Amino acid sequence: MAIIGIDLGTTNSLVSVYRDGRVQLLANDLGQYMTPSCVSLLEDSSLAVGTAAKNRLISHPKRTAASFKTWMGTEREISLGDRTFLPHELSALVLKKLLQGVQAALREPVEEAIISVPAYFNDNQRCATKLAAQLAGVPVKRLINEPSAAALYHSYITGQTEAKLMIIDFGGGTLDVSVVDCFEHIIEIVAIAGNNRLGGNDIDRAIAAYFCQETGLDWETLPPDHQAQVLELAETAKIKLSHNPTEACILILRTEKDAHSLSLTASVLREICQPIFEQVRQVISQAIKDSDIPLCDVDDVVLVGGSSQLGVFVDYLEELFFKRPTLADSPEHIVALGVGLCVGIKQRAEELQELVMTDVCPFSLGIATCNTQKDTNPHMATLIPRSTILPARHTAQFITIFPNQRHIKLEVYQGENYYAADNLKLGEITVSVPPDAPGAQGVMVTFAYDINGILAVVAESSGGDKKSTVILNPKLNLSQEELQQVLEKFEQLRLASQVGEEDQLLLDRAKALFAQLTGRYREEAGYLIRQLETAIQSGSLIRLNRERKILKEKLNALEAFAQMDVFHPYIEKNEEEKQNL
Ligand code: ADP
Ligand code: MG
Repeated sequence: MAIIGIDLGTTNSLVSVYRDGRVQLLANDLGQYMTPSCVSLLEDSSLAVGTAAKNRLISHPKRTAASFKTWMGTEREISLGDRTFLPHELSALVLKKLLQGVQAALREPVEEAIISVPAYFNDNQRCATKLAAQLAGVPVKRLINEPSAAALYHSYITGQTEAKLMIIDFGGGTLDVSVVDCFEHIIEIVAIAGNNRLGGNDIDRAIAAYFCQETGLDWETLPPDHQAQVLELAETAKIKLSHNPTEACILILRTEKDAHSLSLTASVLREICQPIFEQVRQVISQAIKDSDIPLCDVDDVVLVGGSSQLGVFVDYLEELFFKRPTLADSPEHIVALGVGLCVGIKQRAEELQELVMTDVCPFSLGIATCNTQKDTNPHMATLIPRSTILPARHTAQFITIFPNQRHIKLEVYQGENYYAADNLKLGEITVSVPPDAPGAQGVMVTFAYDINGILAVVAESSGGDKKSTVILNPKLNLSQEELQQVLEKFEQLRLASQVGEEDQLLLDRAKALFAQLTGRYREEAGYLIRQLETAIQSGSLIRLNRERKILKEKLNALEAFAQMDVFHPYIEKNEEEKQNL
């Protein structure tokens, strides 16, 4: 039974495995690693998936779908001929195609898959991905953020043991930016930001619009096959210009009646792309602000994803950062390779044992609350802010606002907007409270959020009513038994402020020194205690490791000072003198 990794991309999808001590990509039936994420309905009502479907994009645009990942988690219906599909159904077909290839290559059944998703996917989009896997018949317990997978592989392969990196993944339909801290064998995702409606497709569309503008065509009235043709011309020109930026590229659209042509240069392309690059800049900016790491402390900017090969994009970033970013090795494969490493870690491969990766929560999680009886539009009380290191667990108290209020309804939301209604509702629980004066009764609410993006909520009212639930998208039906398992696991989740044995010993040593010493030495001991406590609370393994290292050295020095015998040198001297006599 095999575990496989899947990069289910907007444009292309890849499969990886961990075998014989290394990550391997699996080729499809055509011998290619990348399978186009395309589906087409054939005339005999059967379905073509992958390259065969992509080849029909121009000839049969109305029967072919691509880039449907952009609509994952929505109810948008995509028609292929006379049939309609939801985005996750089309993704399920791509997964099925990939699985066929895997079974042929491995000659063993697939036990489980780890699938990567854009970091910026919300709960609906993540659930739709799991649902797609369910439909394709492969269990998925773990989703991993695409930029995290890329970061994992990049730092693994370059052996960068101490570096702060920014990873920019610019694909066909999504942009993901992550700030990563690598220290020894720990890879910590510090912040992630993204835009899942921005990618190379937008560049193609911008070029197509420019083509129409310059040749006097009207995009809206172009027949679908011409639209598809112009988009393909645009993509081909873009790729040509990224390989050979000094030579202008000619786009020619031949219709039944006439031909339209345009010469495109790299500098014009750069102008066309400017509004798209501005949006990329905003996302980069947000990631840096969330990470709390100053831009000048970022050691390297690493580019992954197909669109990051675009020369004018790299030029733009170079101007932005005042240094040339590094184009990752195999930028189009790196996410899949990273997912393959996760497979290795999951299979407990010996050589990967030291490798640890932590991730962060991409969206804030909270409860809809009203401050007064008059409040009609509840706002968000955030329990787990975005960019919190996972797994995370936080508790907050909420009180009644009405006299003799009997119930407290807790509505759980995900998102960054002030008003709860503007965010994504994940679920709700209601607990009962004894009738009393407003504010006299309340409920303690605990959120526990794990690395797979599963949220458990425990609510305990002052009246003793305790309810716990796993908040899951209603589309994902777990059995009662599975729910119970998740709840039990969460009970054991690390508390954000829980202190481990090693740290407790260090703290005890520092506290003993604090009591023993005075003046600036006491201040020093107090400072060390606070530093370690803050590092523990941050949940950051890297920060904790760094802090421990410093602390140990400083404690040794302080202890040596505390134990120093001021008479020691004289005693020795006396002994010497005695012997000399
Ligand atoms: P995804 O992860 O969204 O499936 P990929 O990382 O495979 O996407 O990137 C696909 C995108 O990369 C497409 O928009 C494609 O046009 C673009 N692309 C591929 N090669 C190049 C290139 N050499 N220069 C510019 N863009 C490229
Ligand atoms: Mg990708």
